[in-house]
Amino acid sequence: MLLSFLDYQNISEVKEICDKLVSLKKRIISGDVDDPYIEYESIQDRFERVRIHALANNDSTLADSQRVFNDYFRLFCNLAKFKQCLLNKDYRASWNSLQDCMNNAVFVGRFTPVGRRLDIPDVIELLEDYECLYPYSLFFSSEFVIAKSHCSICGKSMQSPQCLHRRGQLYYGEVAVEIVDEIKEFQAVSLVKNPENKKCVIESLDGKPISFDMLKEFLDMNFPWLQRFSITKKTERRINPDIIMTGRNSPCTCGSGIKFKKCCGKDMYYDHVHYMVTPGEPVNFIM
Ligand SMILES: [Zn+2]
Ligand SMILES: [Zn+2]
Repeated sequence: MLLSFLDYQNISEVKEICDKLVSLKKRIISGDVDDPYIEYESIQDRFERVRIHALANNDSTLADSQRVFNDYFRLFCNLAKFKQCLLNKDYRASWNSLQDCMNNAVFVGRFTPVGRRLDIPDVIELLEDYECLYPYSLFFSSEFVIAKSHCSICGKSMQSPQCLHRRGQLYYGEVAVEIVDEIKEFQAVSLVKNPENKKCVIESLDGKPISFDMLKEFLDMNFPWLQRFSITKKTERRINPDIIMTGRNSPCTCGSGIKFKKCCGKDMYYDHVHYMVTPGEPVNFIM
């Protein structure tokens, strides 16, 4: 579906959309991430015109591929937004933008065969590298019983034989989703490692707010933007520089009058944590 859209560049709106995406990608590579959605917003009416054109010509490939390409375009906007949040040190929001990118990429992947996904596989791997920098490992997930719902395409109940749509499938550029009208009961809120929605993060553990130390240290390194990497945590014992050393049984240098080994000698070492970044391949945007 992704490449199919590019086959329609004889339609002027399709060509305009592609050109706008190329200029957005160029901008992101250069690190200019102000106004992440400016190109996307300026081109929405072209997407709509392409969709109307597709419907008028009964062309479901064009209708579906413009929908997939819309998410593909959106992915790069969200990537710019992600970078912008990092620059603003808004770490929590940057995580949400990262998840938006991931959702766009997965959506495109669902409708595009392997080998025809352009730069999507590379971008997903890069997003996964960035995910490793965050302290989130557990997420909330809620389970509930749906009492009443309807199909977004035909309006009938998706469980009834009258609805022939499959959840998550594309029908002339529209995704069939189950719209919930009424929830019978919430069954449980559980903690899970691989939730459907990774935005439902746990903000604190054991009463302590989670810290973004690893992410901050990574950002301080000024590692090249859009390059893959792996990160490992190293802990080493270091001698506390604030302590003036003396013999173990001598009076402590702090003047407490107790033996060094029973006083400041106890805090002679501390664990220094630092992170090692191993560079990987730069991600090549296909334009
Ligand atoms: Zn239906
Ligand atoms: Zn002491």
